[in-house]
Amino acid sequence: MIRYGPDFAPRGHRPTTDIILIHCSATPNSRSTPAEAIVRYHMERLGWRSCGYHVVIERDGTAVETLAPGAIGAHSRGLNGRAFGICLIGGLDDQGRPDAGYSAAQWETLAREVGVAKQVWPAAAVMGHRDAIARGLTSDGPKACPCFDAVAWWAETMRDAAEEDTPPPEPDGDKLRLDRPLTIDAATVVIQPR
Ligand SMILES: [Zn+2]
Repeated sequence: MIRYGPDFAPRGHRPTTDIILIHCSATPNSRSTPAEAIVRYHMERLGWRSCGYHVVIERDGTAVETLAPGAIGAHSRGLNGRAFGICLIGGLDDQGRPDAGYSAAQWETLAREVGVAKQVWPAAAVMGHRDAIARGLTSDGPKACPCFDAVAWWAETMRDAAEEDTPPPEPDGDKLRLDRPLTIDAATVVIQPR
């Protein structure tokens, strides 16, 4: 079995984490694509050694750990050695246009996961994939990902939390609290060499 626990870091560990990068799967919001489909796409179709993202948030708000939080991911060229990557399932309407139609549960989970990540890496900037591209931090081509203004969203989320006097989420050591780690039977993962 491939166990997506704290030890699953086939590309090694990031020397630093100064960016929390939010992505979307660019799948229709109307479809409940499971996290496992993203893992399988990256490993089976693209031939990667792991899922590119650290966390995938499914439509029902479940956060699935798809890579050790401190591991080097594969979600943004030039940033993988310094960025923690969270992917929301969805991002497109039924016509394939960018649409931030995430579920209420996904928004809630995203706020929780980013909040915990900020406890682990307090100096990390929160931004969307498209913000990193706009700022010239990555050589990735133009993308709408994650299809909303993540910088403004996070500022608003923090403002709301301050107004409600919500205590920040507690990190569990250097690990993030996730609803479930993903476990895949390695025998069923067919990795295509690139
Ligand atoms: Zn992205």
